[in-house]
Amino acid sequence: MRVIKTVADFREARRQVAGSLGFVPTMGYLHDGHLSLVRAARAGNDCVSASIFVNPTQFGPNEDLSRYPRDLERDLAMLRAEGTDLVFAPGVEDMYPQGFATHVDVTGPLTARLEGAARPGHFKGVATVVTKLFNIVQPTRAYFGQKDAQQALVIKKIVADLDMNLEVIVMPTVREEDGLAMSSRNVYLKAKEREAALVLSRSLALARDKWSRGEKDAERIREDMRKLIESEPLAKIDYVSIADASTLEELETLDKLALISLAVRVGNTRLIDNILL
Ligand code: AMP
Repeated sequence: MRVIKTVADFREARRQVAGSLGFVPTMGYLHDGHLSLVRAARAGNDCVSASIFVNPTQFGPNEDLSRYPRDLERDLAMLRAEGTDLVFAPGVEDMYPQGFATHVDVTGPLTARLEGAARPGHFKGVATVVTKLFNIVQPTRAYFGQKDAQQALVIKKIVADLDMNLEVIVMPTVREEDGLAMSSRNVYLKAKEREAALVLSRSLALARDKWSRGEKDAERIREDMRKLIESEPLAKIDYVSIADASTLEELETLDKLALISLAVRVGNTRLIDNILL
């Protein structure tokens, strides 16, 4: 496994790749969710690359950029164990040198709602860094997690709109045994908060349960989810959404593929989760 820190060195390594290249972009502090993407890339391509870059432009001014967990040595050991060939781990100055002035901005409903509404500028940062990473890595296929459902839609949109020559593959959310979606941010949770964080997956399970018993009224399901989350004193709802899974428009009736998603603050930690129904 080669660990490469600069754009020029990565380009040089990329030239030597024969066959298809699978790519997994990450912000590091890896867990099994990330590794499921690496395994899919390994199974589907001749060569596998991952990136580790905590992208400052996708964090808001009052968000957790400075305390975002980092452990490069541990990440590299995990990537090595999965048979990764190339790791791109640039510094901020490599990705955003002095005078950097170009951004990719996906406009319209895909970025206006949900995470886009709660985190102004977030998707502009994501779109810009992912476009840069795609240009540097030149992957055949890129792998993303359903955990960040809206991000996956935004990236598919960029690839389609800008005629990028790669395939975007979205893999299922990997969960802890008790249902909590794996996230690098779970490390922030104190013991009581870790317990309280189960309201996210529980409220999604409740939605699935109601839906499978025939409930098709979206607002009644949202209301039941909110009630369950509000019963947890450490949890504070940011949003609970039942939306068209491709346009993210809020639904009145569950009569098409729906993305049930939520963002909840548990203590100081903001967590997101979703399912498709
Ligand atoms: P991050 O390091 O949080 O930027 O995530 C890097 C990639 O891993 C993104 O495509 C995420 O959607 C994906 N990912 C994060 N958590 C999970 C999870 N629990 N299951 C599957 N994929 C995940």
